[in-house]
Formats: sequence, C-alpha cells, structure tokens
Amino acid sequence: MFELSLAEARAALRARKLSARELTTAYLGAVEQLNPQLNAYITTTPELALTHADAADASLARGEHGALTGIPLAIKDLFATKGVRTTAASKILAPFIPPYESTVTANLLRDGAVFLGKANLDEFAMGSSNMTSAFGAVTNPWKRAGSNTPLVPGGSSGGSAAAVAARIALGATATDTGGSIRQPAAFCGIAGIKPTYGRCSRWGVVAFASSLDQAGPVARTVEDCAILLGSMAGFDAKDSTSADIAVPDFAAACARGVKGLRIGVPKEYRMDGMAPEIDALWQQGLAWLRDAGATIVDVSLPHTKYGLATYYIVAPAEASSNLARYDGVRYGARSPGRDLIEMYENTRADGFGAEVKRRIMIGTYVLSAGYYDAYYLKAQKVRALILRDFTEAFEKVDALLTPTAPSAAFGQGEKMDDPVTMYLNDIFTVPVNMAGLPGLSVPAGLDAAGLPLGLQIIGRPFDEETVFAVGAAIERAAGFTARPSIRAEG
Ligand code: GLN
Repeated sequence: MFELSLAEARAALRARKLSARELTTAYLGAVEQLNPQLNAYITTTPELALTHADAADASLARGEHGALTGIPLAIKDLFATKGVRTTAASKILAPFIPPYESTVTANLLRDGAVFLGKANLDEFAMGSSNMTSAFGAVTNPWKRAGSNTPLVPGGSSGGSAAAVAARIALGATATDTGGSIRQPAAFCGIAGIKPTYGRCSRWGVVAFASSLDQAGPVARTVEDCAILLGSMAGFDAKDSTSADIAVPDFAAACARGVKGLRIGVPKEYRMDGMAPEIDALWQQGLAWLRDAGATIVDVSLPHTKYGLATYYIVAPAEASSNLARYDGVRYGARSPGRDLIEMYENTRADGFGAEVKRRIMIGTYVLSAGYYDAYYLKAQKVRALILRDFTEAFEKVDALLTPTAPSAAFGQGEKMDDPVTMYLNDIFTVPVNMAGLPGLSVPAGLDAAGLPLGLQIIGRPFDEETVFAVGAAIERAAGFTARPSIRAEG
C-alpha cells in the first residue's frame, strides 16, 4: 500500500478497492512506528485524520469525490490549522492554537484531504537543514551507503520532505522563500514545486519574507505534485498579492512531452567546486530532454552571482518586520518582566532561537535610517536586474534546467560553524524566488554514496504547465526507483 502514488491511491479509493479509513489507518500506524526515528511531525492528529477519512468514505459511498478525497497528507507547521496547534517550529508559538484555517489548507479540506499532522521545519522557515527547529532536528530517511551518520533532510520543509520520502504521508504542503520546497525535495529524493508568486494564497501561512514566500506541494511523483497544486492554488481576496488567474489542469500538463520546447542552460550555474556528479547529472538531464525532442540553448543570467547576497538582505529585512508581532501580547508564549518593555524583551529573548535572532538583527540593521539606501534599496534594484535576466532568457527559451542544490544531503551538525556556509545551499534556488518564478525539483539520480540528487526546472511566470511537462519528461527518463533505508513497507 505504501508504494502507491497519490494518483494510484486516489484511483483505488474511487474504485472502492481501498477505503479511506484503511489507507489512513495504515499511514497513522506508519507514523507511529517511524516518527520517533525521523521527528518529521511536531504534532500528529490521529483522531482528526480518522474523522476526515470517515467523511471521505461517506462521500465516496455516495459516488461523490473531490480531487483529494481520502488522501492522507502532512501539513507543514507553518500553515494555520483551526483548532490544531501551529508552532512554526518556534518556542514563541508553541502554545498557539489558531481559531482559523489557512486558505491553502482550507482548499485541501474542501477537496477531501485527510490531515495526519503538522510537519517539522526550521524555526519560522529560516534554514536549509531543519537544524533550527525548537522541536528538534529531522533525520533524513536516506543514509550514505555503509554509514549510519544521520543526515539532514534539507530545509526548511524538512519534515514535509522526510515524511513523504519515508512514506509516512502521501504528500505534504510546504513553503519556499529561498528554496525550502526544492532543496529538501532534492535531499530526500522526491519532487516539489514552488509555484509562481501569487499562485497560492499566503493567508494563514506564518509570514517569513512576504515578497518571497510561496506555498507549494512535495510528493513522490511530479504528477502527484500537480494534483496537489491544483487543489492548493487559486485566487484569494484575503491575500492582496494573490493572482486572479484561472488554475489550469496541471496534471494533464505532465503528459504533454517536450517535443519542440527550447530548454535554456544558464552558464552562471556552473559553479567552481560543484560536485562533479552534479554537473554530470545536469548534462545527463539535458541529454534526456534532447532525446525527447527538445532543443538545448545556452543562456546567460549575469546577475545570478548577486542572488544570494541580495536575498540575505531582502529576506531578513522583511522577516524583522514580520516578526515584530511576536511580543507576548497577541500570540503565543509570554515571559514575564517588571514592566511592559522588559516583558517584550524577555518574551523575545526566550522565544526565538539563534538563527531567528540573527535574521532579525540583520534585517533591522539593513533597514535602519543610515543604511537603508546602501543595503535594502540597492538589493531591491539588483532584484529587478535578476528578474530582467530571466525575462530576457525567456524570450529565447521555454524553461531552464539547472541543478537544485550544490550538494547532496549532509550530516546533522555539518555546515553549522559559519552561517554563510549554510546559506550557500540556496545558491541555485534563491534567484527563482527573487524573480517570483515557478521552480520544480525532480529526483534524477544518485551520488557515489547512494544519496539522491535533484534537477531544477524553472519556468515563465504562471507557466507551471511547461514546468510540469519538462519535469515529468525528466522523471520518465531518469526512472528513479531508489528507496530510502527508513520507510514504511507493506
Ligand atoms: N534556506 C533559505 C533561508 O534560510 C530559504 C528558506 C526558505 O525558503 N524558507 O532563508
């Protein structure tokens, strides 16, 4: 049962070969068995899941179904879920039980999904390793051949990706501000798409950097991501940056093929010091697309080299402003003090972890009166140039192919001495957020240690269909069948 894709499980449910209660019970059992090793969930909601499953069975019995009726999912603990604790993996939100449901999770419930629980993440989605969670690290279900070293699942959506890879969720919600869907998907050997900025509503998603944050799915196949995104996406008047654009049939686009498409290879993504296996896989990916009828075209994105530096100005600036609301009065935890100011100080000193404090300090600094023009304003100008590079490239090509991350999953505790080393993980993903474009990571091969590697497909704004078509072509050619050592079986 755990080898069924979301699309296959959905077909079995509709054919009444499997009930939602059976499927959910099996997944809940697997969560109970494997979560102590993985720590992929912060909160599990078995009773709620069975309530959702029974409602799904009742509608299937009436011959009715939504796009996701009876499908068990993990929800990144950054999405507000009504009556279910929503922590953002921070101590400061540990006691927060939202009285409302985020738009994205409400859309999934409308379509009949079953919620197994809330997935672990880096605190406030700030990180690339899931090591900054106040609820403990997540362990990647994959191991290096012949080694027991626990590896990171990537971040920030590390719990979502680990849960899906270990088959303790059929799919999961995630969010991506600078790579948090695509990099964990690559590290865990699954697929994940960050859609175009504005495709999914941000309403009810704990804010990190509002001009970059986007919700999207992770799942084991490209088609499963397409099905999930179809439910998550759509216009929402409650988010002023939500796009009033029709949601196409993403799943149908997966079968289109790439014949006649022009695929760009940005030369700036060939980095010094990149693992030779990653470069080889990238070349292989291009060969697969050429064999499937696409034309490969060299393109240049000259401002890529400023992507990381500008991201690490813009994202902390917005974070410092968004996180000002956690003051011990309106949400979550409070640490007492002799007066109001001391209460604020104690609440924030106790409630936020080191990485979050670092971002607040950087953000406050770059926005301060004397430095605003030198840092924030300059970064916004460079951001416009990054977008212009992509716009010019998309005059010549239909999509771009790049690696997703510069390495495979690394060990827990590695890359922790210097924050900049951790930030380098995002080198291939942040320009896509800076430009607001869709980006999909597809598992395409293994490194010498047997760890999964991903390729990234970047598309034009609101052209996720082409991105899915290219991603599905890579998936078909790659025939990725490797499995992580920790996974539910049977
Ligand atoms: N790793 C990046 C960061 O730490 C991106 C995180 C994200 O996309 N939420 O900011």
